[in-house]
Amino acid sequence: MTVRTRFAPSPTGRLHAGNARVAVFNWAFARHHGGAFILRVEDTDVERNVADSLDTILDDLRWLGTPWDEGPEVGGDHGPYRQSERQAVYAETAGRLVKAGLAYPCYCDLEAAVEPGFRYPGTCRTLTRAERVRRERDGRRPVTRFHVPAGEIVVRDEVYGTVSFPPDEFGDFVIVRADGRPTYNFAVVVDDIAMRITHVIRGVGHLSNTPRQAALFDALAAPRPVFAHLPMVLGTDRRKLSKREGASSLALLREAGYPASAVMNYLSLLGWSAPGGEEILTPAELVREVGLERIGTSNTVYDPDKLRWVSGRHIARIPLPELARAVKPFVDPARVPADRYDLSRAVDVIRGRMTTYSEINDHLSLFLVARGPELKGVQAALRDDAGAGVVLRAAADRLAALPEWEAPAIGRAIRAAGKETGARGPALFHPVRKAVTGRESGPDLGQVLGVYGRDETLERISAALPDGLTQG
Ligand code: GLU
Repeated sequence: MTVRTRFAPSPTGRLHAGNARVAVFNWAFARHHGGAFILRVEDTDVERNVADSLDTILDDLRWLGTPWDEGPEVGGDHGPYRQSERQAVYAETAGRLVKAGLAYPCYCDLEAAVEPGFRYPGTCRTLTRAERVRRERDGRRPVTRFHVPAGEIVVRDEVYGTVSFPPDEFGDFVIVRADGRPTYNFAVVVDDIAMRITHVIRGVGHLSNTPRQAALFDALAAPRPVFAHLPMVLGTDRRKLSKREGASSLALLREAGYPASAVMNYLSLLGWSAPGGEEILTPAELVREVGLERIGTSNTVYDPDKLRWVSGRHIARIPLPELARAVKPFVDPARVPADRYDLSRAVDVIRGRMTTYSEINDHLSLFLVARGPELKGVQAALRDDAGAGVVLRAAADRLAALPEWEAPAIGRAIRAAGKETGARGPALFHPVRKAVTGRESGPDLGQVLGVYGRDETLERISAALPDGLTQG
């Protein structure tokens, strides 16, 4: 059996942690088994559809790295399946159920149907043909109701175990509305059968829909898929993480510069744990480790601090050329004159402190102080300091002579200048650091100067000497 999973978003907004997590599980689970991951857009509820939502969902999924495997041809690519384009399949299937006596047209005008706890008493189930014809003639347009079989409905869930629903849990429910559109429970089942879905993995909010769907699978003589419901995701306030909780929207995470691999990793931990409790997983590791047996039943909390930590760990591991490429769009040219410095070198030095790409500007500012008035003031003060001048000149001579501009060698050159001039500790490093960066402290000076580059370093030291370097 080929494993086939699906992600079935409704285009009612953007992807957020709660639903993106469902996509991640289904994708990883299908990949783990060498199966197929299907994307199906549940857009029959037209009043709730939000313009552009579908495009942004597709964009978010592509960014996240959970590509879907099949669907109708769209411009050389395959788009997702859309329920709005599958009307004929639902109508045909409903017709089949009516013919088999498993569903029936219902003409009841039911205000009460919207009230919680309402169970349709089955009034139209026993209408004669003549009674139906009369109602049709009166211009009444029926809904189609599924005749729910008597008895308890028992559902096996891979996470929550065996769940039974008593016979009176719900009455005969609507599968096709009066305007011909299918209801959610019906369309899902028709599609899961047509798309040969083997595993339905989704949020626990849908567990209560599962008995209705299971009964429909049975009525359509189709094997039920394996059901696995993921526990609820709560916000840090312990309330349900709603779509309005912007902090978890994929779009915002992407804008803030979280690597997609980190977001995927973090989302996978919402309700699932890797063997051995490993919390940092690349997409490939997730695909290798994912399984239904390690999904828990307790609510999980979407924790931005944990996401940040996971993200930092990913940034520390991304190969440097890839990381530098990813960071580049986040560099603010107004704050960091990127073209004057070797960005990849700077990124390598600060990556251990970064948790998102957008922090690059703050971190880079440590290294890339502009030659503004602030720096000019510091350099002017150094020009009046004879002791500093001796150190700066000696350091500059040795730095100019270095065969390679690498952090350890830069550090050694400055220490050698200290030996030569008798300056030690702060008396040695401070003047150099201040001349170049205007600051008293910061990360390892060799690394800092490594990022500034030799020319920039020497020019700045020169500006801090009364006669400049050329006259030395
Ligand atoms: N369209 C449903 C949702 O967005 C998913 C239904 C399902 O997975 O069965 O919650």
